[in-house]
Amino acid sequence: MINNQYANSEVPRIAIVLPCHNESESINHAVTQLTSLIHELADEGLITKDSYLFFVDDGSTDNSWVMIDKLNQNNKAIKGLKLSQNFGHQAALLAGLTEVAQNCDAAISIDADLQQDPLAIREFVKELHKGFDVVLGVRNDRNSDGWLKRQTALGFYNLMRIMGVDIVPNHADYRLLSKRALEALALFPEPSIFLRATCLQLGFRVSTVFFDVSERRFGQTKYSLSKMLRLALHGITSFSVVPLRMVAILGFVIFLSSLVMGGYVIWHTLFVGDTIPGWASITLPIYFIGGVQLLCLGVVGEYVGQIYKTVKKRPRWISEYKLD
Ligand code: UDP
Ligand code: MG
Repeated sequence: MINNQYANSEVPRIAIVLPCHNESESINHAVTQLTSLIHELADEGLITKDSYLFFVDDGSTDNSWVMIDKLNQNNKAIKGLKLSQNFGHQAALLAGLTEVAQNCDAAISIDADLQQDPLAIREFVKELHKGFDVVLGVRNDRNSDGWLKRQTALGFYNLMRIMGVDIVPNHADYRLLSKRALEALALFPEPSIFLRATCLQLGFRVSTVFFDVSERRFGQTKYSLSKMLRLALHGITSFSVVPLRMVAILGFVIFLSSLVMGGYVIWHTLFVGDTIPGWASITLPIYFIGGVQLLCLGVVGEYVGQIYKTVKKRPRWISEYKLD
């Protein structure tokens, strides 16, 4: 595998991409922490002095954008993009990564609430210098999460593994992508992008860095349970056909068992003679088969929905304003 050019001591310009949805309470803290980190890393010669922050306002209804705009007026190392409405975390992230791809040598995505330890960015950049194009941040533990979040996250990664979706457990969207990885990412036009799986499909060298997660300092989570479920569903239907296969296997098993049951009933009628006046034996299979059919239809429908979205070729996000 050919190393990227930063393995030969070229100094990369880094863009730190922060998607935000109603993060006005977190923005100032993020700016203070990350700007001083950029200065430190630039002084150490790891990144260029003109590395910058890039906020993507994902349809905030608070004054997040006003703050980003004001910060940009005072400091050109803080840039931003305002989306025309709430397109969701993945789309906002992709919008940011697409925008910065032209102007940086590598992009790092991090949540605006800075729950992910920003100090791991130093390790990300060191991995870039070692020649890795994709560096994934993996959380050390989930102690900062509540019980429900821990359980849903565990269920999420287990489900992905069962479905054969290749993702690194406990890696969310804290990662570094080199310029050529960003360019490769642009070749994936799917509407329901699931970045943590797509990044592993780019084929470039992947490294991992472990980091700690703290509790959210300001505001509430912007990831509701329904948004998490949607993400899981997108992840599965974009990267796995296992559910479709399972539907087919389930159908086959039910077909076989109905043959066996039918054989048993014929044998019983012919050779034993007493017919069972069973209400349950008639009604239960009707409910059972009806339920299974609806479930299967739902699974197939999810995939048809994905095809529907794909053929429409609608934009994945719409930019309203950009700050350079
Ligand atoms: N976010 C976004 N659009 C959304 C939801 C969330 O851009 O529709 C951003 C949010 O502002 C934050 C990041 O995605 O920067 C992660 O969200 P959050 O911290 O609320 O998720 P959690 O850490 O609770 O999983
Ligand atoms: Mg968070």
